[in-house]
Amino acid sequence: MTSFTLDLPHTHIVFGSGSLQLLGRELDGLGVRRVMVISTGGRAALAASVDELIGSLIVHRFESAVPHVPERVVEKARAAAGASAADSLLSLGGGSAIGIAKAVALQAEIPIAAVPTTYSGSEMTPIWGLTASGEKKTGRDVLVQPRLVLYDPALTLDLPPRVSASSGLNAVAHCIEALYAVDGNPLTSSAAERGISLLSHALRAITTNPREMTARSAALTGACLAGFALGTVQMALHHKLCHTLGGTFDMPHADTHAVLLPYTAAFNASAAPEAMRAAAVALGARAAPAALLKLARDIAAPMSLAELGMREADIDRAVDVAVSRPYPNPRPVTRDALRELLNAALVGDPDYIQ
Ligand code: NAD
Repeated sequence: MTSFTLDLPHTHIVFGSGSLQLLGRELDGLGVRRVMVISTGGRAALAASVDELIGSLIVHRFESAVPHVPERVVEKARAAAGASAADSLLSLGGGSAIGIAKAVALQAEIPIAAVPTTYSGSEMTPIWGLTASGEKKTGRDVLVQPRLVLYDPALTLDLPPRVSASSGLNAVAHCIEALYAVDGNPLTSSAAERGISLLSHALRAITTNPREMTARSAALTGACLAGFALGTVQMALHHKLCHTLGGTFDMPHADTHAVLLPYTAAFNASAAPEAMRAAAVALGARAAPAALLKLARDIAAPMSLAELGMREADIDRAVDVAVSRPYPNPRPVTRDALRELLNAALVGDPDYIQ
């Protein structure tokens, strides 16, 4: 019998090609007057382009966001928000920009508006992260859940195919883990299944034609659903491992998700048969782990942790960190089983998955 609880915090979502033009009106609706814009250096041109839309509201531009929310960058962003008396934060860009906005909002208690340009899904979650002393800590707080999310697929047309592939698989990973979440519910599972289906089709289309608007729109819709899934239920081994590798070895976030996903799915397959069946249907395949490996291959995503700079000597430390704090997972996580998984993902061994 179905039984579940689900809290849905209030986020106003605006989705549509060209919707960036509505930014001024939407910020007005939020009632903010002093906006600090947050972006990575790579998105500085986009940050500058919103001048003509909301120039009179901008009190500071923080363009030094980087992945994994390092404490030293957060301190600078918090100081800038305080010095400019910002009453709100506008993140323009992917999960790195949103991550810094969340770390500032957590302390300053001011609202976030997000204009996401990747498929990370962070804009839809109350999850914050902070990396200090080589360890990434995460937590949940409604204070960091963006109050406004403006999705404009036109802003993603230039997202390079390789970044699109990894970022898209990061979103698929949210959906896969939502399907076997310990606190799963029918709303989230429906979103996750639809997210997998949209993303698997759209990412293949983007690989051959990155500027195809229909595919970009479908991928961003999938990312929104994936973010909703990530934000509403607890993640498991896959996300734990990605955070471990990101925080401890500074591995690239989305690429690490892309490599590990078929391996963590294979690890959990026998312990989460219903979730894997649902994922397989959404992927249009017989077995989800093999279909995820094929998807990664088809869209030219990275295929091994070694490719991302991980070394065999790092595995023991990764296992130590990953088992150091308990978290729910369909299959019990032992050190030996985890070492086997990481050794396979290190070299991209398809035999682990078949
Ligand atoms: P990112 O934000 O670092 O972006 C990747 C690269 O793509 C950057 O160089 C960026 O400048 C560039 N880029 C972004 N949008 C672009 C566009 N439209 N066109 C061209 N280039 C573009 O990477 P990400 O994968 O989006 O985010 C990773 C971070 O997000 C990690 O720190 C991760 O932990 C965090 N994250 C957090 C959550 C959460 O719920 N808290 C969820 C997912 C990811």
